[in-house]
Amino acid sequence: MKEGTKEVMKEVTSYALNDDQRQIQDLVRRVARERVAARADEIDRSAEYPHDMFALLKELGLFSLPFPEQYGGAGSMLSACLALEEFGRVCYNTAYLLLVQWVPFGAILAGGTEEQKARLLPGLASGDLRGAFSTTEAQSGSDVSGIRTRAVKVDGGYRINGAKIWCTNSDIADFVLVAAKYGDEAGKPGSSGISLFIVEKGTPGFVVGRKEDKIGARGVPSCPLFLDDVFVPDHNLLGGGFKVVMEAFNASRPLIGARGVGLAQGAIDHAVEYVKERKAFGQQVSDFQGVRWMLADMTIQTEAARNLVYRAAALVDAGASPAELAPMAAMAKCFATDTAMKVATDAVQLFGAAGISAEYSINRYFRDAKVLQIIEGTNQIQRNIIANSVLGRQARK
Ligand SMILES: Cc1cc2nc3c(=O)[nH]c(=O)nc-3n(C[C@H](O)[C@H](O)[C@H](O)COP(=O)(O)OP(=O)(O)OC[C@H]3O[C@@H](n4cnc5c(N)ncnc54)[C@H](O)[C@@H]3O)c2cc1C
Repeated sequence: MKEGTKEVMKEVTSYALNDDQRQIQDLVRRVARERVAARADEIDRSAEYPHDMFALLKELGLFSLPFPEQYGGAGSMLSACLALEEFGRVCYNTAYLLLVQWVPFGAILAGGTEEQKARLLPGLASGDLRGAFSTTEAQSGSDVSGIRTRAVKVDGGYRINGAKIWCTNSDIADFVLVAAKYGDEAGKPGSSGISLFIVEKGTPGFVVGRKEDKIGARGVPSCPLFLDDVFVPDHNLLGGGFKVVMEAFNASRPLIGARGVGLAQGAIDHAVEYVKERKAFGQQVSDFQGVRWMLADMTIQTEAARNLVYRAAALVDAGASPAELAPMAAMAKCFATDTAMKVATDAVQLFGAAGISAEYSINRYFRDAKVLQIIEGTNQIQRNIIANSVLGRQARK
C-alpha cells in the first residue's frame, strides 16, 4: 500500500451521506417500492430481459451515477452504491441492469482513447447504447491469463479468433469489450499481452450464442460468444490496455458489495413480514427467542456489511487510487456478498417449507445471493487479494 493511500484511509475512517446522496437514496427507494418490486418475481420466473425496467432507469437518468459530471453523472461511488442497494433490496435483476451498464462504461473511462470516450460514453450514460464485457472462456475464468482468444494485426485493424462464455448482456449489447491475447507478450505466462477490443454488434464472424439457463440473475442474459476471423478496426483497440481497466475495477467492487447489502436487507424485509404473520404452538413465530436472535444476527451482519461497503465507496470518492483500494474493495465485496448468502439462507429457514415454494419471493433471494459470491472475482479470489495485502505481497491475478 502506498503512503498516499494510508493518508486517505486515515482521513476517511467513516462516511456521512450528504444531501444529494440522501435524495438519490430516497428517490430510488420510492421508485423501487412503487414501480419495481411488483415486477421482480415475474422477471425471475420468465427469465426475460426486463426492457421496461431498463426504460425506467433510463428515464430516471441513473446510468451515469458513479461517473464524472461531464457525462451527466453525480461522480459519486457512494451514490451509486445507494442506488444499487435500494433496487437490489426488491429486485436483483433491475439492480443488475445498472451494473452491466457500468462495467463497460468504467472500462472505457479508464482505458479508452479520447475518441472512444467521446464516441461511446455519452450513449452509455444516457442508456442509448448498451455494452458488455467479456474475459471468461471455458478453460479460464479466475485465471484470466489462460484465455486463448487471439488477435492478429492486419491492414487497418485486427482479426480475432476464439470463443467466450458467460458474457452478460451480450445479446442485448450494441458492442462487447472482448479480451484477447495480442502482441509480443501474448505467448508469455501472466495476463500481460491481453488487450481489449470493441466488437460491434453485427460484425461478420461475431456470433452471440444461446443464453445460459441460470438459477439466479435470470433476468439479464449471459451467453457464449463465438469469434471467427472477426475484423476489428484500429480505432476499436481499447487505448489504455487491460491492466489499467483491471485496476479500475478495484474501485468498482463496492458496487457488488452494495448489491449484497440490498439483497440481505430485502431478505430480512420478507422474513420479518412472514414471521410476524405466521403462528406456531399458539403464538406468533416472531415471539420465539430462537427466531428473534436469528433476525438480530441477520441485521447485525447486514449493518456491518453496509458500513464496510459505504466506507470503501467513500474511499473511492475521496480519491484513493484504484490499485491502492484493492484490499478494502475486496473486503467490501467479499463480506457483503457472503453476508447476503448467509442472510438469505437464514431467511429461507424462517419461512419453513414456504421458503422452498415458488409461491414466495424469498427463494429468489437465496438463488441470486449465490451468484454474487461468484461474479466479478470469486470470493476466494477476493480473499487472495486481502491476504496478499496483509502479507505485504503484490496483488496476484
Ligand atoms: C451470472 C454470471 C454472470 C457472469 N458474467 C460475466 C461477464 O459478463 N463477463 C465475463 O467475462 N465473465 C462473466 N462471468 C464469469 C465469471 O467471471 C467467472 O465465473 C468467475 O470469474 C469464476 O471463473 P470460473 O467460473 O471459471 O471458475 P474457476 O476460475 O474455474 O474457479 C473454480 C473454483 O476454484 C476457485 N479458485 C480459482 N482460482 C483460485 C485461487 N487462486 N485461489 C483459491 N480459489 C480459487 C474459484 O473461486 C472457484 O470456487 C459470469 C458468471 C456468472 C455466474
